[in-house]
Amino acid sequence: MGPYEHRFVLEAFDTNWISPVGPNIDAFETELATAVGAQQSVALSSGTAAIHLALVMLGVQRGDEVICQSFTFSGSCNPVMYQGATPVFIDSESETWNMDPNLLEDALKARGEKARAIIVVDLYGMPAKLDEIQSVANRFGVPVIEDAAEALGSRFQGIPCGQWGDFGIYSFNGNKIITTSGGGALIARDPEFMTKAKFLSTQARDPAPHYQHSQVGYNYRLSNVCAGIGRGQLRVLGERVEQRRAVFERYRSALNDLVEFVIEAPGSFANRWLTTILLPSPELSTRVRLRLEELNIESRPLWKPMHLQPVFDGAPAYDRGISAALFERGLCLPSGSSLLAEDQDTVINEIRQIIT
Ligand SMILES: *Cc1c(COP(=O)(O)O)cnc(C)c1O
Repeated sequence: MGPYEHRFVLEAFDTNWISPVGPNIDAFETELATAVGAQQSVALSSGTAAIHLALVMLGVQRGDEVICQSFTFSGSCNPVMYQGATPVFIDSESETWNMDPNLLEDALKARGEKARAIIVVDLYGMPAKLDEIQSVANRFGVPVIEDAAEALGSRFQGIPCGQWGDFGIYSFNGNKIITTSGGGALIARDPEFMTKAKFLSTQARDPAPHYQHSQVGYNYRLSNVCAGIGRGQLRVLGERVEQRRAVFERYRSALNDLVEFVIEAPGSFANRWLTTILLPSPELSTRVRLRLEELNIESRPLWKPMHLQPVFDGAPAYDRGISAALFERGLCLPSGSSLLAEDQDTVINEIRQIIT
């Protein structure tokens, strides 16, 4: 936490706004929109809820298909299942590790009218090839939801991540670059979707003195207390991005000869939420992880691709084995904004010793 969160949370208590309405929510929505250059944002209980509402508003339903990036966290595609639709998984390209635009095109050709939306992810804060994805999507007239849950503060061609698609989503879960303990947000190009998202996230209450409902709603609003945390966190976002990028640069300069790093493409600015590396082999990846674990240092395998997850067994996949190979050889290294240089040196030295 930074210096401001306490003040905003205290304000919520002092003014008795302990509720999913209140001044912190309004201010947080405005401040977040400003931070990402959007007109408006809607503060929600999670990033998953934001994706779900986008799908609901696009009218995705049983029998429909949603084209999803396979290499991601399950929160990206679980909402497809909530709607009774089928996820169709797309493998990654090896430059950004995100959705391969060529495979997306293959999929859109093959799925035809059934494909109702595309969920592209800026994984680990690295912008996807968003221009190519968007132009393929435009050609087929399929709306894009940009899952920027891990990419707040990242940019592509000067445009903040989350702003590229018809919808953009952010997460403020405890593990993300900034947090509200749990929370998320939705932005949309069409302002009508913002009004609709507020309506749906507060149980779809029609204007009437009594409780009147003509649609199914959701309890997806962020609380005013959590929004207070978010307001404080937004003030340190720029600083957090710089810290994470410095952590990445330090790993890279120390280990560049031994392991592979994901490099920013021209025009790409990554928040470096987590530093990820590719080891020369799956065996070395496991050895590094277990050695660090012995020293009580947490590292983690990369996200296991969704097309390999038991829960999505049988879902169609357009796959060239890229994300599966990343999963086998990759590791997330300790990357916290407050990681000490001496602790980082321990990680670096252990990796050097194992590999050389
Ligand atoms: C965290 C995350 C989500 C889900 O966000 P929650 O706020 O945890 O629901 C979705 N997609 C990606 C890529 C994430 O990392």
